[in-house]
Amino acid sequence: MTFQQAQDFICKSRLEKSISSFLPLKRRKWKLYHNKGSLLCLAEPEKKRFQEEKFKNLLRQALNSPYYSGVLEKAGLNPDNAMLEDLKKLPFLTKEIIRRQGDSLLAKSKSRLYQNASGGSTGEPIVFYQDKNYRENVWATMMVILEMCGWYYGARVARLWGAPQDKRRFRTLRGRLIYFFQNTRFYDSFNMSEENMLKYHYDMTRHKPDIIICYASSIYLLAKFLKKRGLKPSYPSISINTSAETLLPHMRSTVTEVFGRDVYDKYGSREISGIACECSLHRGLHVFEDNVILECVDPITGKDVYEKPGELVVTDLNNLGMPFIRYRIGDMGVISREMCPCGRNTIVLKKILGRITDNFYLKNGKIVHGEYFTHLFYGIRGIKKFQFIQEQEGEFTLDIVKNGNYTEDCLKRVLLGIRDVIGEDASLKVEFKDRIPDTSTGKHRFTISNVKRDFI
Ligand SMILES: [Zn+2]
Repeated sequence: MTFQQAQDFICKSRLEKSISSFLPLKRRKWKLYHNKGSLLCLAEPEKKRFQEEKFKNLLRQALNSPYYSGVLEKAGLNPDNAMLEDLKKLPFLTKEIIRRQGDSLLAKSKSRLYQNASGGSTGEPIVFYQDKNYRENVWATMMVILEMCGWYYGARVARLWGAPQDKRRFRTLRGRLIYFFQNTRFYDSFNMSEENMLKYHYDMTRHKPDIIICYASSIYLLAKFLKKRGLKPSYPSISINTSAETLLPHMRSTVTEVFGRDVYDKYGSREISGIACECSLHRGLHVFEDNVILECVDPITGKDVYEKPGELVVTDLNNLGMPFIRYRIGDMGVISREMCPCGRNTIVLKKILGRITDNFYLKNGKIVHGEYFTHLFYGIRGIKKFQFIQEQEGEFTLDIVKNGNYTEDCLKRVLLGIRDVIGEDASLKVEFKDRIPDTSTGKHRFTISNVKRDFI
């Protein structure tokens, strides 16, 4: 028996589940996972009751936060009598408010808080907190999302991914154990040279993953590369699960053509994860309404819009440590109330007009996913907005809009990280601006590469 066969056997035996289900601390998350799939199928009245109870609970917790207690008082809302419709009485939460209010958004609770940071969809770095309840729900939702993509216990998974915190986790002993039990291999999407893509291809050919979890543009890049080289992948055997950026129609069709498998898109962000995922009918993304209340509003009037593009506004029903109520997540989308015939009773995200990330082709042959640069800004409080542009192969510009917390130290780590990748000989111009205009679609693109290359 080979090592891989032994691993398959252990993963299929559900040993990890058997062990952790006995631990009282882990039992809750397994329970959440077992309930979550069926919550998608609740009939309308039950779904509303379930959401309303969670909404009331969120508001009760929010009363413990200096910022939200003021907001609720102003809106005249008593959490015990609140109905879902009352959500509209509350103001939007913006990144600017998160930056300005800081810790006054925290709802003092006994639950442990975990710090997190993001560049968001709009290139405005923010720092925020999530509690244990939120994290357990995210984990349970990810399991359900994987099941919707065809995953089963023991299925082999390839992660074509780059987020530094996920990579770090992979290097620790605990992370290695987790990935072992999840039968997962990691492929770095922040380091995609042609040479590395060939290595990834041959390794996946040997490893035969059943599912690939990936950034949309990374799998698109790999698909284009394989197609150009005339290489026909024999993997994955089940499906491809994309996220973190907009999966455009031409990307989906190329990936489907090259890999011959269904692509399942999912939607979430670092601030609020596990928002929506496609089912096998691909009629749009089912919204996890037990996790979030998702609104799509006209950006000018604030009124609800259905079946046409609007701004997505998310209320997270799980993070009680730092409530995100009516959060302007920064993406546009189209919500439909038309039911999907698969039997899941949820609203459906028909289209997401979210972040678009370019790949950066460097002189040394490396191809770096734009998310690499975005991550360098996570947790930096002195920068209001940024945009990193590759003008030509060895020529880069970094546009910065400062805020009141800016000091010279803010950029040190960012510039080191950029130099690490582009090299010392590349030209890097830093320009401070009053504002960075959005694209014609109203969308801010915080990493842009004007260098396009076809594979030979
Ligand atoms: Zn469906």
